[in-house]
Amino acid sequence: MTTQTALREDTFRETPDGFTLLASRCHHCGHVSFPPATLCVACRAEALKPIDLGGRAELLCSTTVHMPSEHFAAGYTVGYVTMPGGQRIFTPLAPADDTPLTPGMPLKLEIAAMWQDDGTDIVAHRFVPDPA
Ligand SMILES: [Zn+2]
Repeated sequence: MTTQTALREDTFRETPDGFTLLASRCHHCGHVSFPPATLCVACRAEALKPIDLGGRAELLCSTTVHMPSEHFAAGYTVGYVTMPGGQRIFTPLAPADDTPLTPGMPLKLEIAAMWQDDGTDIVAHRFVPDPA
């Protein structure tokens, strides 16, 4: 049996409506940090409140990386998406074979195994095309 562990426990949670990304909003200046932070990068305040970003997004732009990284073979896709509240998130993307990624297309959050470490699936977020 394969066990699973989250790459970062504080970046997503499951809700009755599906998964949502988690972030923090600065109580002082309103800056939103993803992943959640303990110190605001905009004003250095420490009064941050956890918020949900949601599980749907719109593709802003994407690119295919042709150089391998520690956990991904060459040919993986990353990009920026816009969350319903307007926040822009840099994220892995999982294109569908039959659906080219185009700016403005609707995406949905997926929590999936990204790689294995000693028989444990390391799970994290990525966005996939949302045909709905
Ligand atoms: Zn701030």
